[in-house]
Amino acid sequence: MSAALERVIAEQQAEIDRLRKQQIQRQEYSVKDFEAKEEIFTRAAQMVDWYKLRECWKDDKKQEWSTFMTMRNDLRIALVEYGYCICCKSLTCAGECHDS
Ligand SMILES: [Zn+2]
Repeated sequence: MSAALERVIAEQQAEIDRLRKQQIQRQEYSVKDFEAKEEIFTRAAQMVDWYKLRECWKDDKKQEWSTFMTMRNDLRIALVEYGYCICCKSLTCAGECHDS
């Protein structure tokens, strides 16, 4: 094999190795990113659905209560529209927990 051909093969192998490493890094990032999103969504859903919320709000600041409930509802809608299942606290459910 000529020196030029060996050099080309070595360059190509180096490029293949670089791309493989990049792909592995992207897969690792995707897994971490998904886990972080699911954690954020789950914490937001717990806050939105906290059963004691209404009991804790016993003063007469009705406009504040109304504003808060609007924000709470907007957050709930945003979670659901993204694809998060409020029922089973999952990003991958896609409503399947409702089917059974
Ligand atoms: Zn579900």
